[in-house]
Parts: sequence; structure tokens; C-alpha cells
Amino acid sequence: MTTSFAIGDIRLERIDEMSGPAIDARYLLPGLPDDAIERNLEWLAPTFLEADTEKLVLSLHGWVVRTGRHTVLVEACGGNHKNRPEYPRVHELETPWLDRLRAAGVSPEEIDYVFCSHLHVDHIGWFTAMDSGAWTPTFPNAKYLIHRREYDNWNPETRTLPPLALQGSCWDDSVAPVVAAGQAVMVEDGHEIDDALTIEASFGHTLGHCSVRATSRNETGIFCGDIMHSPLEMAYPDVNTYACEDQDAARATRRKLLEEAAEFGHALMPAHFPDPYSICRVARDGDAFAVRRFEDG
Ligand SMILES: [Zn+2]
Repeated sequence: MTTSFAIGDIRLERIDEMSGPAIDARYLLPGLPDDAIERNLEWLAPTFLEADTEKLVLSLHGWVVRTGRHTVLVEACGGNHKNRPEYPRVHELETPWLDRLRAAGVSPEEIDYVFCSHLHVDHIGWFTAMDSGAWTPTFPNAKYLIHRREYDNWNPETRTLPPLALQGSCWDDSVAPVVAAGQAVMVEDGHEIDDALTIEASFGHTLGHCSVRATSRNETGIFCGDIMHSPLEMAYPDVNTYACEDQDAARATRRKLLEEAAEFGHALMPAHFPDPYSICRVARDGDAFAVRRFEDG
């Protein structure tokens, strides 16, 4: 299993937390046509779908991105020891994720920046770790970059939408301690982490969802978070998840990303695509799209 990739001179290391059948495809994507799974079963199963349960295979992983100037973590998974009865997949986990980070040659102290596409519970778990009875920032020297709009979206004092039960206590145990430690930095659209990495608004899945564009030597890769959860959404790009907060924006954002990636051959790193498609490419398929191997680019 390959976990190391490159976009030009930028080095990517995937740090796995878990992967497997996770959620009923029709539950996550309620707008799927009735025959969608049957029509696509041949390529979906077993990599992207467990055929007998129709559960989508979803991965939880983060990316260590080394630009030569900075070491950046993109996406922070479920985390260990978090009490998540509302979200059993990441409830009281005890995975060797930090050991895998170190095995990739990176200590938590070496992370300069942390960025997550959005603040859903399965993206921010490793913001903090339990230390002497307190939730403490896992990366003591990092700035945690958070888009202002996404921060306001989940801050209980400024949220405009109804609370999301799945989130449980993640604001209190994962976001608030980072803010209290003075390590959170609010950013706006177009924020350049350095000359190789730019944060770009890709609103829709959540009100402040963002992507990270990595560019080096005429190669581009986009960490596109939860704009899609499965390549099934490439075949049905107008179908949203039930959880997308701005349904119209989510559709527009997905089409725009897929059009650009197909036209220019960009690599995509969606947050939940399983190996060997955690980094992939996109081909046009009529009015829709299809997933391709990264190596085929
Ligand atoms: Zn997610």
C-alpha cells in the first residue's frame, strides 16, 4: 500500500486512521436514482462499496504535506479517546495514528500548520489529545488555521443553523482548547500558507468548507475535503449528502471542482476516498465524471 506521493516538489504522506464500510449509500446520498448502485456495482464493489450491505467504503486519514518550507497537516480524523456516542465510528478510538505519523518521519512538534476542510467531528479529532486529564493541542508548535466563516458556523454563540447532534462535544474537546492555547488563527479565502499551498473557499458541505490547493512545477493537487465522499458522486455530481448545509452551493462547488480537475488533469485528495484512490484524477463521462488512478494522470 503506497502512502507517499508527490505533487511536483511537494511531498505527501497519508496517515491512515481507519477504512472500511461506513454508511449506507442511500442514507448518505438520498437523491441517488433508484438504479444508481445496480448500474455502477461493477466498478463500485468491493473498493468503494460493500455489495451486500450497500455501505460505502470510507477512509479516515490525514495528509502530511511538506513543501520544503513548511510541514502541514491537512485533516485531523477522529482522534483518540474522544467520547462520541453520537458518532460510533469515532467513539473512544485507540488507534496508532500518532505512531504512524512518527513512522512517516514527522513528530507532532514538527507540524507548522494544521488545516481541516471543515469542522465536522471526523475531521478535527487530532486537534487535541488527552494529556494529564486535559484536552491539549496535539501539535504544540502549530498554528491551527480555521476559516473565519467555518469557525463562526460551529461556534455555539454564532451558529445560524440548528445544532448537529453528530458533532457531540467536539467543539468543547477539540476546538475550544486550541483557541484557549492561542494556537488558532482565523483565515479568509485565498490565504496562502506558503507559495505552494493556498486555502480556497469551497462552501456547501458546510457553510465555511474550504479546500487546499497545492501547486508545484506546473502540477496541481486539491485537498477537497468532503465536496465528495465517494466516487459515486462523480457519476452523480448533482446528488448531495443529507448533511450538506447549503445544498445549492454544494452542487455548484462539486461541479466546478470536477470540471476543473477533468479539464486540467489535476489530482484530487478527497478526505474519505479509500486506498488506492485517496489521491486520484477525474475523467469526463458524458455530463458526469469518473474516477481515475492518480498514476494515470
Ligand atoms: Zn468527513
